[in-house]
Order: sequence, then C-alpha cells, then structure tokens
Amino acid sequence: CGIVGVTGRADACDVLVEGLRRLEYRGYDSAGVCVAGADGALAGERAAGKVSALAGKLAARGGLTGASGIAHTRWATHGAAEERNAHPHRAGQVSLVHNGIIENHAALKAELVRAGRTFQSDTDSEVVAHLFDQALDAHADPHDAWRSVVARLQGAFALAAVSESAPGLVFGARRAAPLLAALGQQTGYIASDAMALPEDARTLIYLEDGDTVVVSAGQADVRDAQGRPAQRKQAAGPGVF
Ligand code: GLU
Repeated sequence: CGIVGVTGRADACDVLVEGLRRLEYRGYDSAGVCVAGADGALAGERAAGKVSALAGKLAARGGLTGASGIAHTRWATHGAAEERNAHPHRAGQVSLVHNGIIENHAALKAELVRAGRTFQSDTDSEVVAHLFDQALDAHADPHDAWRSVVARLQGAFALAAVSESAPGLVFGARRAAPLLAALGQQTGYIASDAMALPEDARTLIYLEDGDTVVVSAGQADVRDAQGRPAQRKQAAGPGVF
C-alpha cells in the first residue's frame, strides 16, 4: 500500500527501504525493491511479511548497488499474499509497482497471452509491466510509451516503473490514488506520501489525478491526462531522514 521511487542517489537501495519503513503505517502484507545498477541492469528482491524481512534478505546478499530504483509495500487485492505476487513485477526490460486495482486486467492479460507473454504472478498489476515493456519498443520517446500504457488502464492506481532501456528515469502515474514527485538538486523522487522522502527532497510537486511524470536527477517532466506539459503546485519537502 505504498510506493517509493528514487534516482540520482548512490545509496538508492537504502533510501528505498527506509522509505518503505516510513510507509509501514499504511498497512501491507509484503514488500519489494528493484534497483538499476551502473550498467543499467535491474536487480530486485521481494519478501512476504514485514519490511524487516525484505531488509534481512537484502543484507544477506550485500544490498543492491545502483543509483535509481523503485519499492513497494503491497496490500493484496488480486492473488494471495505470497512472495511470487509481491511487487515489483518484471517484464523484459521493465520493473513495475502498483497500488490500487486495474479493473480491465483480465482483458489485457488475454491480449498479452495471445501475443506470447507469460505471467509470473496472479496479480492484476503484472499486465502493466508487460504493456510498458511492449510500448517502450514501439515508441521513440519513453514518456510517450508510458502515457500510451496508462491510457489503456481502467481502475484506480498509483504506478512507478523503471526500465533497462531508460537508465536514470523513474516513471510515475496516478489516478484516484495518491502519488507525488519531489526533487533535490541532483536527485528525484516519487512517493505515496512525503513521509517516505529523505532530507534532500527539497521540493515537493503535487501530481493531479490523471498525471504522468518522468523523474530524472533534479528534474520532473509532468504531463496532464491529455499529454500537455503541466506545472503543478509545489511545496518545501519535510526532510524526514
Ligand atoms: N492490486 C494489486 C495487487 O493485488 C496492488 C495491491 C496494492 O494496492 O498494494 O497486487
């Protein structure tokens, strides 16, 4: 029931896990993280149960090295509360997390299976990872690819994604679910709640319903539901940790 994304922090994995701890109050049944390494390759870890269980698994493998990534606490709606259904979900070059419900997931999954895609989880969310993996191959601009995916979704969602083909970028979207962006001088964030953000997240950007955002180090490209560049209300960050 919480999302954190970061770019431009050499300690991305620690920032993500600490962010998840700050979102624990929202309730959840499993947790996961995915970090992009210096070569762009994605590596993830997931665990049923507490964020401390995830942190233990990460510590056992020496953490995940990289400067950008996404993290999630899940409150299961579709698929049992097991590690295989925990987010992030991987599809090709993409790793993705989702809070909410994708109402038209069954139709989208049928289409993707016909196109030869295989699924690893029972969630409604995994379809979005596959759609984004397809769309990145079909669009020159990754934000256009992201918007084409979000336009196909019905339901309520906050989404965050990273791709091996778009190093340093974190993709976010919200519809009827909370998500904000934040910036430091050389860092960028998205989160369900500003509580999950570290001290260098100096400027909060309040996304509106239907917005998509692509965050890079020190920059946030926000578009409205029609794809127009959008200026959103800003505030000073809380500097939580
Ligand atoms: N519907 C998704 C799932 O069951 C996301 C749940 C959530 O909001 O955490 O995996």
